[in-house]
Amino acid sequence: MGERIGFVGLGIMGGPMAKNLMEADYELVLYNRTKEKAEEIAGDGATVADNPREVAENSDIVVTMLPDSPQVEEVLAGEDGVLEGIGEGSLLVDMSTISPVVTKELAEKVAERGASMLDAPVSGGQPGAEEGSLSIMVGGSEEDFERMRPLFDVMGSAATHVGPVGTGQVVKACNQIVVALTIEAVSEALVLGSKAGVKPEKVVEALSGGLAGSAVMEAKKEKFFGHDFDPGFRVELHHKDLGIALAAGREYGVTLPVTAVVDQMLQDLKMRGRGDLDHSAILTLIEESSGHEIGS
Ligand code: NAP
Repeated sequence: MGERIGFVGLGIMGGPMAKNLMEADYELVLYNRTKEKAEEIAGDGATVADNPREVAENSDIVVTMLPDSPQVEEVLAGEDGVLEGIGEGSLLVDMSTISPVVTKELAEKVAERGASMLDAPVSGGQPGAEEGSLSIMVGGSEEDFERMRPLFDVMGSAATHVGPVGTGQVVKACNQIVVALTIEAVSEALVLGSKAGVKPEKVVEALSGGLAGSAVMEAKKEKFFGHDFDPGFRVELHHKDLGIALAAGREYGVTLPVTAVVDQMLQDLKMRGRGDLDHSAILTLIEESSGHEIGS
């Protein structure tokens, strides 16, 4: 019999990831705080548990996909949490984006139960989760990575083992720095080009062919052009992620000066009531301070 998989956290990302595992014929035990979501996804093909402990008791591998460190701590170490049910030889795979420091603390608690942990945050957003094409950054032992690899291959198109536990989260923080700072840079370029009389589409077309071209600009260009800020990836979540990056910089003694500025811009957007918009809404701050909306 194959490994039994527990899945906790069936939100924008976790829902489709769990569905893909079910479609690949894995036997799943699901838990979601709002139970109806778990029941809807389970259909006739999976079992729904009443709490994370029950998930752990009935699985060999437990995957978590939750918003941030406090929620992962609660689901693992809280009452009726995963740690109460996880047994010898089981594997916990946290795919949420959380603090690498908290990850290492939780891995020690998991080890005290005779189980082990991988941190495996993802990039690729909702489309990547639905298509099973996520990029997955994995920290933990080689052995656990190989054990999990068939499942990573269902949920993603590229899983990279980057080092010991906690390093997956470090690399995800690196990823989030590059994405946020690129969105900010493209926003500045578009407003400058547009206010000086060049169509935004022409700016992107010209930049795309050279060194300034990037996957971020390509993925976000239509959102910029159309001022379509439906998420996508919410401002609030990216602000959380830059907070993780800045805390890691403090922990390891690394200066992240421009990350700090963009972190404050995301904070600014939240204060203006735009926390639920796509992170490409950084453009609106440059537009407002420049008195110019691109394409106008
Ligand atoms: P989401 O849609 O907000 O889903 C969060 C899930 O966590 C829901 O199932 C929610 O349950 C559950 N939850 C929240 N608080 C909880 C608690 N205290 N106890 C138990 N369960 C709790 O978030 P998401 O977009 O899927 O993001 C999940 C993670 O993936 C985050 O770390 C995010 O940074 C990362 N990520 C997201 C994207 C993206 O594009 N969205 C891309 C890459 C990485 P309910 O259903 O009851 O609310």
